[in-house]
Amino acid sequence: MRHQFVFGVDLDGVCGDYIAALKPFVAKEKGIDPDALTDEVTWNCPEWGITKEEYEEMHARALKEQRLFLHMPTYPDVSEALWELSNAGIWIRIITHRLFLSGSHALVASDTVQWLDNVGIPYRDICFIGGKQEVGADLYIEDNPNNINALRTYDKSVIVFDQPYNRTLPGPRVTNWQEAKEIALETLTQYNRFHTPLPGMDDI
Ligand SMILES: [Mg+2]
Repeated sequence: MRHQFVFGVDLDGVCGDYIAALKPFVAKEKGIDPDALTDEVTWNCPEWGITKEEYEEMHARALKEQRLFLHMPTYPDVSEALWELSNAGIWIRIITHRLFLSGSHALVASDTVQWLDNVGIPYRDICFIGGKQEVGADLYIEDNPNNINALRTYDKSVIVFDQPYNRTLPGPRVTNWQEAKEIALETLTQYNRFHTPLPGMDDI
């Protein structure tokens, strides 16, 4: 029996606008206006005048003090697009590496699933894992350059969700969920064409 087409969907920087969520917390810590902090950031946000260690410390505190994962804004159309894909027969698998800070796993896991319900994102299962290639998916959508490169090393198909820190990577690249939906539907069509048995083959 052929398996259902699985779409592996990352959360931060793909479904939710992580930078927009973190920015007010960092601005408050620095005592400045959030608008003074650019959106054009590279990994760990050095453009905000913070070191990697300061970034990690603020990220960890924002999870608890601001409930970052419960209140993160979504990108436009993500709920509608994923519902349409789900209704088209695609298995939505959330794959996120949010559990990398010990001591906050219960909060992160519960805020994540509550947020998914609150914003209306459909999914059939959820994986908290760093090595995303370990989790089966026929197509992934991802923003983290390291994850994109790792998945491609394992010959996985990955849509790059456009962010300032991944612009040097080759596509397919999307800037919104309408484009992501179209690529996923096209990939599903190709998958079905390849996996549908020829007439009569079941009888052999
Ligand atoms: Mg991400």
